[in-house]
Amino acid sequence: LAFIVSYLYFRWVQEKQRKSTFATQNPNYCPMEYIADEWEIKRASVIIGEKIGKGAFAVVHKGTYVNPKGGPTEVAIKMPHEDAEHLECMQFLQEAHLMKEIKAVHVVQLVGVVSVNLPYMVLLEYMALGDLRTYLTTHRPNSEFNLTNKPPPTFARMYQMALEIADGMAYLANQIKSVVHRDLAARNCLVSAQGIVKIADFGMARQVYDNYQKHGPGKMPVRWMSPEALRGEFSTKTDVWSYGVVLWEIVTLGDLPYPGLSHNEVMQFVDHQKVMPKPESCPEHFYSLMRRCWHRHLWQRPTFLDIAQELQPWANERFLRESYLTSQEGKSALKAQR
Ligand code: ADP
Repeated sequence: LAFIVSYLYFRWVQEKQRKSTFATQNPNYCPMEYIADEWEIKRASVIIGEKIGKGAFAVVHKGTYVNPKGGPTEVAIKMPHEDAEHLECMQFLQEAHLMKEIKAVHVVQLVGVVSVNLPYMVLLEYMALGDLRTYLTTHRPNSEFNLTNKPPPTFARMYQMALEIADGMAYLANQIKSVVHRDLAARNCLVSAQGIVKIADFGMARQVYDNYQKHGPGKMPVRWMSPEALRGEFSTKTDVWSYGVVLWEIVTLGDLPYPGLSHNEVMQFVDHQKVMPKPESCPEHFYSLMRRCWHRHLWQRPTFLDIAQELQPWANERFLRESYLTSQEGKSALKAQR
C-alpha cells in the first residue's frame, strides 16, 4: 500500500510540474499574456508587510513601495493565491491593466505592477479603514466588533458616503470609460484613512463574475443583482440597481440584504417584482432613491450622474474641490446627458 501511495504521489507531483512547465513554456497554452510596461515596479522596491485581507481570488498585504523618485508610499499589495493556475495569474494581471486608464478621486488607484518576477503583485492605493461593509458593522452601537465604542455614522455622513460612491461610479460609467462593475457592493468599496469611500475591484469585476459563474449560482452576488443581471444581461443600469442595495447596506450598517431569505428565495422575490421594504429609521428620501434604483425598467432608473447631482447638497468642501461631478469632464458629461 505504501508503494502505491508513494507512486500516486510521485505521479501527482510529476503532473503538476508538467502543467506548470507547459504553461510557462508554451505560449499557445494561455490565450493572454501580460506585457510589462511603464507601470512595472522592481520587486526590490516593494516591502511586504502584514496580511490584511483574503479575497476569493487574491491575498492582500499591507506594504510599502519605495519609489526611487517620490520616497516611500503605503500600499496594498494584491497577490494571486498560491495555488492559482497560470491562466488565472494572467487574468489577474490583465484586469490590473484595465485600471491603468482610471484616475479619479473616488476610485481606488493603481500604483504599479510586478509581472516579471514571481509572485505577481498588483499595488494599489492603501485604504486604511478597510472595506465599507466591515467599516459599517464596526460602527454599530453595542456591536462586539465596535471595540472602541465608535459612534454610528450620522445621516449626513451616510449621504456623504452615498455621494462618493455615486461619483466614483459616474466616472467609471461615463461614455469614454464605460466600465460596468458587475459586483458593486459595500464589500467592494474601501474607506481611506480620511474616511473617503472609493470604488474597488472594478477591474477585477469581469473575472470575478466569470469565477462566480464557474463556481455555480450559489457563489453569484444575487442579493446585489437586478432582474436582468440575474438573466445574464449587464449594463451600467444593473450597477445602478446594485447601488440601491449598497444604500440599503449603508443605512442598516452592513446588514445582509434580503434578511432571512436564501439565495433561491432572493431570486424568486426579485423575479416576482418585489423589493425590500424601508428599513427602520431610514430617511424617506434615502429610501425613495433606493426605490428608483430598483425600478423594473432600466430607462426609469437614474444615472449615476443624476444620483451624484441629487446628493450634492450633502457634499463637503473637499468634494466640491475634487470630484468627478465638479470636474470639467463631469460637467461636460452632465451636459451631454441632458
Ligand atoms: P478579491 O478581489 O480576491 O475578492 P479583495 O479585493 O476583496 O480580494 O480584497 C480582500 C480584502 O483585502 C478586502 O476586503 C479588504 O479588507 C482588503 N483590501 C483590498 N484592497 C485593499 C486596499 N487597496 N487597501 C486596504 N485594504 C484592501
